[in-house]
Amino acid sequence: MISVRNLKKSFKGQEVLKGIDLDIAPGEVLAIIGPSGSGKTTLLRCLNLLEQPSGGQISVGEIHIDADKPLKAQQGLIRQLRQHVGFVFQNFNLFPHRTALENVIEGPVQVKKEPRHQALERGRALLAKVGLSDKEDAYPKRLSGGQQQRVAIARALAMQPDVILFDEPTSALDPELVGEVLSTIRGLADEKRTMIIVTHEMSFARDVADRAIFIDEGMIVEQGDARQLLKAPQHERTQQFLSKFI
Ligand code: ATP
Repeated sequence: MISVRNLKKSFKGQEVLKGIDLDIAPGEVLAIIGPSGSGKTTLLRCLNLLEQPSGGQISVGEIHIDADKPLKAQQGLIRQLRQHVGFVFQNFNLFPHRTALENVIEGPVQVKKEPRHQALERGRALLAKVGLSDKEDAYPKRLSGGQQQRVAIARALAMQPDVILFDEPTSALDPELVGEVLSTIRGLADEKRTMIIVTHEMSFARDVADRAIFIDEGMIVEQGDARQLLKAPQHERTQQFLSKFI
């Protein structure tokens, strides 16, 4: 479903991703863990070209982007790829002047040109799915962080993506609101949705992810079965990192 080869990213001469290789199968949940500044968010943003990779190849289904060639010539493909890859941001990124329901239908109506009545019907169903039927007409500032993040998840689902990328989806939330967002994501894993989740919630990663990768200094240091990697890491750097969470 997703394949990444030798993905590189530099910011002003600083190499932040140093050649990442990654494959994700349909229905798989992958957790990305690693220290602050190791490149997790950059990797995720490069996967849907929110950030321009400096080199390497990204394939999502039948769409292939080659960042070793000029990206300007691949803008059409990049637009297509983005429609297949949902993104849930750390800080929700909802449109502040649109209601919850309007936020959810924006992509289907504006990007996919879905008829409005159809998008509204599905948007309502998606808000119900994330437990927010009664908040359809609420503006983001009237919603808690956890509710905003659940709207953002419904918005990502509305585009019917092949894969959803989550960038530390609970790190901006008050502790008491983390659970509701994690259980929404857990429900999506139960439906066998393909997801990549950058997270510092190790017990969540252990329970929900099939596979985990540990990134340090822009490289994959260790990867494997999520339970195994989180319980008994093999590499010294992974051990050191995980020891801080016990
Ligand atoms: P955290 O867990 O703290 O979110 P992370 O592993 O997600 O960290 P990144 O946000 O990917 O790390 O950052 C990796 C490195 O790239 C850091 O040194 C960061 O300062 C740098 N970086 C990220 N974005 C930019 C940018 N737009 N311009 C310059 N440097 C950047």
